[in-house]
Amino acid sequence: MNWIKKTLRFGEKIKILLKKRPTKEEVESSDWTSCCKGPVLKKDLENNLFVCDSCGKHHRINCKQRFDIVFGKNNYEILKTPIPQDDPLDWEDSKTYKERLKSARKKTGQNCAVMIVKTKINNINITAGAFDFAFIGASVGAAEGEAIIYGIQHAIDNQNPFVLFTAGGGMRMFESLIALSQMTRTTLAISELKKNNLPYLVCLTDPTAGGITASFAMLGDIALAEPGALVAFAGKRVIQATVKEELPTDFQKSEYVEKCGFVDLIVERKNLREKISSILSILLKKNSSINSISDETPEDNRTLTKAAS
Ligand SMILES: [Zn+2]
Repeated sequence: MNWIKKTLRFGEKIKILLKKRPTKEEVESSDWTSCCKGPVLKKDLENNLFVCDSCGKHHRINCKQRFDIVFGKNNYEILKTPIPQDDPLDWEDSKTYKERLKSARKKTGQNCAVMIVKTKINNINITAGAFDFAFIGASVGAAEGEAIIYGIQHAIDNQNPFVLFTAGGGMRMFESLIALSQMTRTTLAISELKKNNLPYLVCLTDPTAGGITASFAMLGDIALAEPGALVAFAGKRVIQATVKEELPTDFQKSEYVEKCGFVDLIVERKNLREKISSILSILLKKNSSINSISDETPEDNRTLTKAAS
């Protein structure tokens, strides 16, 4: 081997070293994350409700972090939602769906992407739900559909308003039609909620897209959104290629979607609690049958689940 070959090989090695990036696991276990000005301590971000001090970016948070911020720590009870059979289609691509579910459960500590809680804001009893994007992109399969329907049934049984913090890329392809059918099932459940004159408040968080936007995320009586959240059905590149037009830079951001009438109000994370509380008090005054002070929790009946399935 002559010196030219040796030098080239050495150059290749340096290139590989420079290209080496941290793995997902390394990024997750690190104390640091990044935002507009470079590295930022996760602890500092957490102290500011996971919102960047400099650019105001609302970073993604998990369900418990969301409930802690909006309802207060230890001020909610997590409800156990039904878990249907895992992997009904025996799906396998680069790895099996069962493996994906296993690692998502380990990573998030949740059985499915949706968490349902019962809680209170200013003496108003509320049933609420949130999505964890870390659970297979918060996509919706049978378990997530069941969780949402369970939450709505709980709201009806207890005459509570239902508040849902949405996120996720859409329906889960590993469950194919079973996942798609959750759009209809959740829509039917929401119409039951509305027949009972119970408010349904949606807060769109980053990112809410696909079948989620095409069903329960857009059916709220009032639609709130966090600043800068992606709210979309199809992706920007797909639309751009179809209409053959350059789209605005803020296209599909919550501020843009608000201008188009899909969102009623953009609310910063620090103001969510107060805003949800005041909206619900206004809406509930119109529904005198609702007892906002009662703490009683009647036995769940599963009629709605049966009707919707
Ligand atoms: Zn920033």
